Amino acid sequence: MAGKTNSRKAWSAATRLVHEGTLRSQFGETSEAVFLNSGYVYENAEDAEARFKGEADGYVYSRYANPTVAMLEQRMCALEGAEAARATASGMAAVAASMLCHLKAGDHVVAGRALFGSCLYIVEDLLPRYGIESNLIDGGDLKAWEAAIRPNTKALFFETPTNPVLELVDIEAVAKLGKACGALTIVDNVFATPLGQRPMALGADIVVYSATKHIDGQGRCLGGVVLGPKVFIEETLHTFLKHTGPSLSPFNAWVLLKGLETLPLRVARHCESAARIADFLADKQGVTRVHYPGRVDHPQHDIAKKQMAFGGPLVAFEVGETKADAFAVLNALQLFSISNNLGDAKSLATHPATTTHQRLTPEARAELGIFDNTIRLSVGLEDVGDLEDDLDQATAKLT
Ligand SMILES: *Cc1c(COP(=O)(O)O)cnc(C)c1O
Repeated sequence: MAGKTNSRKAWSAATRLVHEGTLRSQFGETSEAVFLNSGYVYENAEDAEARFKGEADGYVYSRYANPTVAMLEQRMCALEGAEAARATASGMAAVAASMLCHLKAGDHVVAGRALFGSCLYIVEDLLPRYGIESNLIDGGDLKAWEAAIRPNTKALFFETPTNPVLELVDIEAVAKLGKACGALTIVDNVFATPLGQRPMALGADIVVYSATKHIDGQGRCLGGVVLGPKVFIEETLHTFLKHTGPSLSPFNAWVLLKGLETLPLRVARHCESAARIADFLADKQGVTRVHYPGRVDHPQHDIAKKQMAFGGPLVAFEVGETKADAFAVLNALQLFSISNNLGDAKSLATHPATTTHQRLTPEARAELGIFDNTIRLSVGLEDVGDLEDDLDQATAKLT
């Protein structure tokens, strides 16, 4: 099987996303093949022995590695500029593995408190059960990061922009603190997308994705990716994944791989429309607040300018005053669907207070900037004029 290598000048991201990592079989197929196999056979017993000893290249078992999954990993590395990557069955498998593969009892983790619900569970509930202490802090407050770091701090973990009200964490500044104390900086880069923000170029050690979101982009399958330095990925993480088994199905890897080919086109459209919708909502009667990193009225717009290529595909806003107001708008939407998912071709609207962040107290939600009248939008690929019309008629229900 031949891999496609690039000996010419560096390809730009759009080109790498179509070609990089392709492993073409003896049949010369144009599109990447789906290798739906769990095991592999060997030429002879010596070959089997050599592969098991790591002295010969080749696959051994699809829990460890698979050609279709390898193509996705390679293409993600090319996009992210990472030395190595491993794909996982879901974004949560990627987040969990990125921490559990190297942390041990007695270690300490500091995390930005505005996290995707399941990430919060891992940091707040799961890690402490195994003797790994954790602190959740306001990720936008550098002094809070500094104050939380202890001699046994081994990982700094955060999302930026955060879910759901799109607060930002200064990646470069936090990564610098991580370097100084010998902790790995791990960034969940889902909300920015790999094209919108490059945490490694800003000093982060590890980047994780839920590929379920924009990488698939069409709501079809789950997947995750962890990217980082070769030694961390190929030794520490690989050993953990190999023996615990959150492997990505080759079929899902293929869906995600094909998703990468159109990622730049889709992300550009998502973000262009999101920026327009943020401005549109800001001028709407009944909308009391808009959260969008690309707008100058975002309190951390300076950080957005420094680390984000665009404002991102999500918009959050407050409407009216109460839960009833938010529900009235959500229920009036005809094109946006009510869903807790994001990063789909279809536009989606979420009421975080009663769904994704329901298990928090109202006080804890308020600390995160989530109120009863907060709505989060994942802007899809529909015509932006149609989306604006939908928001227009739905917000009109308030007055
Ligand atoms: C969706 C999501 C995850 C979890 O990914 P799954 O693929 O659903 O397991 C983690 N972090 C963020 C920011 C997400 O949006």
